[in-house]
Amino acid sequence: MTYDYVIVGGGSAGCALANRLSADPSTRVLVLEAGRPDYRWDAFIHMPAALAFPIGNKYYDWKYESEPEPHMHDRRIYHARGKVLGGSSSINGMIFQRGNPLDYERWASEPGLGEWDYAHCLPYFKRMETCLAGADAYRGGEGPLVLERGPAESPLFGAFFEAVQQAGYPLTDDVNGRQQEGFAKFDRNIHRGRRLSAARAYLHPVLGRPNLELRCRAFVERIVFEGTRATGVQVGGNVVPANEVILCGGAINSPQLLQLSGVGNSEELDALGIGVVHDLSGVGENLQDHLEVYVQYSCTEPVSVQPALKKWKRPFIGAQWLFFRSGPGATNHFEAGGFVRSNDDVAYPNLMFHFLPVAIRYDGTSPAGKHGYQVHVGPMYSDARGSVKVTSTDPRVHPALRFNYLSTDQDRREWVEAVRVARKILNQPAFDRFNGGETSPGPSIDTDAEVLDWVARDAETALHPSCTCRMGADELSVVDPSTMRVHGVDGLRVVDASVFPYVPNGNIYAPVMMVAEKAADLILGNTPLEPARLDFYRHPGADAERAASR
Ligand SMILES: Cc1cc2nc3c(=O)[nH]c(=O)nc-3n(C[C@H](O)[C@H](O)[C@H](O)COP(=O)(O)OP(=O)(O)OC[C@H]3O[C@@H](n4cnc5c(N)ncnc54)[C@H](O)[C@@H]3O)c2cc1C
Repeated sequence: MTYDYVIVGGGSAGCALANRLSADPSTRVLVLEAGRPDYRWDAFIHMPAALAFPIGNKYYDWKYESEPEPHMHDRRIYHARGKVLGGSSSINGMIFQRGNPLDYERWASEPGLGEWDYAHCLPYFKRMETCLAGADAYRGGEGPLVLERGPAESPLFGAFFEAVQQAGYPLTDDVNGRQQEGFAKFDRNIHRGRRLSAARAYLHPVLGRPNLELRCRAFVERIVFEGTRATGVQVGGNVVPANEVILCGGAINSPQLLQLSGVGNSEELDALGIGVVHDLSGVGENLQDHLEVYVQYSCTEPVSVQPALKKWKRPFIGAQWLFFRSGPGATNHFEAGGFVRSNDDVAYPNLMFHFLPVAIRYDGTSPAGKHGYQVHVGPMYSDARGSVKVTSTDPRVHPALRFNYLSTDQDRREWVEAVRVARKILNQPAFDRFNGGETSPGPSIDTDAEVLDWVARDAETALHPSCTCRMGADELSVVDPSTMRVHGVDGLRVVDASVFPYVPNGNIYAPVMMVAEKAADLILGNTPLEPARLDFYRHPGADAERAASR
C-alpha cells in the first residue's frame, strides 16, 4: 500500500503532525519510529522526577557524542536524544518556553520567512496549548499540550524572586506571554503528576483512527528516490512506498538521513561514495545549540529538596507517585527562572536562568547529602555555528557532530557575563539566611580567564541542537518556508528542530511543536490561522532590526 504521508520519527514534531495530518479520514498516514513504545508502565518516562534515568540508557537515548571540541579542552560533549515513542519529549526536562517574540521577528527578517514572524506564529503557539494558569490573548486554552505552572513554593524560591529584584531585574507574570524579560514561575509539560509528552498529548488520543498507522522499532535507513522524487523509505531492507516522506527525526537524524540518501554537499557525498540525488550544501550546516553550567551554593538551612533525592527514599517516592501522582516524584524541579539581558548591546534577553532548590547536576549527581541550591545559566545567542556530517554509508554509524562551542568572541564575552550575573543574583541579601558559600565553580574561579576555563571544563549542552536543515530562500537553505519541502527534490519535507533558522532564546520543545502545528496547515493546504498582531514587550531601543543583527 502507498501511504499519503510517511512520517520518519514518532518524536515531538512527528506526533503532532501525525495527529493533524490524519484528521482527514481519507488521508493514509504511517509513523515510523526507531525506538520502542512509551509503555504506560514505564515510570522512567512518565514520572517527572525520573528525568535523569533515561539519559545514557540505550533503550531511550541515541547516545551521541560530539567530536572533540577545540575550545573546550577537546572534550567530547555528550548529547542525549530521545529514541522512544515521543522522541525527546519523552525524556526531556519538561520545561516549556516559547522563546522571545523578537526571535520570530528575527526569523522573519530572513529571505522567504515573512510569515514566520511572531504575529503568524502566535496563533499556532496558542492552538497547541491549554495553559492552566489562564488563557488570554497570548495563551491558549484548548490545545492538547496541558501546561501546569511550577508551584515554586520552597522558601528558596521566595529568596530567589526577592534576590533578582535586589539585583535590579524585573519579575514578569508569564515568560510565555506578553513579557518574557524578567523572572517568573515556569510552565511545564506535566499534567496530573505525569509527564505529558507529545506522544501522550497528540498521538495516543488518535491512535484508533483507521487511517493512522504506527510502527515502533522501525529504523529508517534511507529515503528511496526515483530521479529527484522521493517515493518511499527503506526499513530493514524493505521499501515502504509513500506519496510524501516527511522527515521528523530531529536536528541530528534528519540531515543524516538526507545525506545518506544523496541530498547534501555533493563533494562530501562523492567522497563517501554516496550517489548524489541533489547537491544541497546547506544540509547539516548551521548547527546551533545552547551550553549551560550549574552555579551551585551550599544552603545553611535544611530547606532544600536534597533529602527527597536520597536513594533509600526512592521506593517511598515511587509509591507515592504511583498511587497518588503526588510528592517529589511528580515534579521536574524546574519550577521557576527567568530571562535577562547581560549587556546593553543586546535587544532582548540573551541569558536564561533556571533556579533549583537543590544542588544537583542533570545526570542526578550532587554533592553528597548536603543542602544546596543552584541556577542553570548560559548564553542563548551564541554565534558559534557547527555541523552534522555523515562519515559512513552505514545509517547506524552516528554522524560527526561539531558544535564549536566557545569559538567566538561574542560567545566568550557572554559566558563571562552569564556567570557574573548568576553570582550577582545569588549573593543578594535575600539569600543571606541560606548562603553557605559557592560550591561550584567556587571562589577560586574569579578572573575572566578562570571563568572561561571553568566553563570549558564544566559546561554541558542544554540539549537544544537545531537549525541543520534551516528554512529559507537563499542558496544554503534546505527547506522552503512556505511548504516545508526540501529544495530541489519532490515528495520530501522536513518538520522538526532542524528547520529553525536560528535557535530561539530558551528551551526549544515549544518552538518545535509550534513549527509542527504550522507545518501541518502548510502541508494540508489549509488556510493558515489569522496572524495575531499583538503588542509585546520590547526593552526600550529593542527592535527587530537590532534583533536581526545579533
Ligand atoms: C534529555 C533532554 C532534555 C531536554 N529538556 C528540554 C526541556 O526541558 N524543555 C525543552 O523545551 N526542550 C528540552 N529538550 C529539547 C527538546 O526536547 C527537543 O529539542 C525536541 O523535543 C526535539 O523535537 P524533534 O521533533 O526535533 O525531535 P525528537 O523529539 O528527538 O524526535 C525525533 C524522533 O525521530 C526518531 N528517529 C530518528 N531517526 C530515525 C530513523 N532513522 N528512523 C525512525 N525514527 C527515527 C527518534 O527516535 C525520535 O523519536 C531536551 C532534550 C533532551 C534530549
